Amino acid sequence: MVDCAEATQLQFMRYRFRDSRLGHIFISHSHGDHCLGLVGLLSSQSLWGRRDDINIYAPNELIDMLMPQIDFFVKNAGFNICFRPIEDAMGRPLYEDEEIEVTAFPLIHRVPCFGFLFREKPRERHIKRESIERYGIGNADDIKHIKRGGDYITPDGTVIPNQELTTPPTPPRSYAYSSDTMPNAANAELLDGVDLLYHDATYAEAEAALAEAMCHSTARQAAGFAVMCKAKKLMLGHYSSRYKTEDRLLEEAVKVFPNTVLANEGLRMEL
Ligand SMILES: [Zn+2]
Ligand SMILES: [Zn+2]
Repeated sequence: MVDCAEATQLQFMRYRFRDSRLGHIFISHSHGDHCLGLVGLLSSQSLWGRRDDINIYAPNELIDMLMPQIDFFVKNAGFNICFRPIEDAMGRPLYEDEEIEVTAFPLIHRVPCFGFLFREKPRERHIKRESIERYGIGNADDIKHIKRGGDYITPDGTVIPNQELTTPPTPPRSYAYSSDTMPNAANAELLDGVDLLYHDATYAEAEAALAEAMCHSTARQAAGFAVMCKAKKLMLGHYSSRYKTEDRLLEEAVKVFPNTVLANEGLRMEL
């Protein structure tokens, strides 16, 4: 999960999300609209008898503030709460497992703030069913070798090239969360070609001066950044409550980056 605002537990109930599955929480910065739900969430997990660890990735200053609150409100938790300072993992993955890697990147905001890039690791090639049948490939090690790009040698010594046995792997998918921030061109290279970019779009262009003063972005600036990092799709979010609808923000962004959507509540997006 990325960020944990006040109503997070209510939203879990509303969208029937099983919070027992939650193992890793990435908090971008120490403003209340991004972290005030965390202590309550951990307290509930403790009351409900959770046993599995929860890892919290957050800026140093936020961890310092959270620790005493968690000590006070989440006493005798039956699970470990593991704090992972983001600053300690710059230049290397913040989290990784067999399938995915999460990298933090610096944002430009009024307090230390980080975005997160979730990127799948390269996948294996698909082995064709007819190849398995034709050459009688049954050995698990052979199949593993072929999926990783290797050729197959038949029992009589004939080499069957990999291209004949496999089709290319499914391209790895990626998602970047970039809020709250002014546009930060320094991140364009890391996010190059990202499938989905969520970006701060707090203001419309008429409030550009305010966006700069508050260290936020306008929708058009978000779109400009999406162009810069060659994102495939842009999702706007973090709108100021001054706008009754976000239509204007979407209109302004679409002029610069057509494949833009609004991050409406409850939206699910397939990558
Ligand atoms: Zn903020
Ligand atoms: Zn915010």
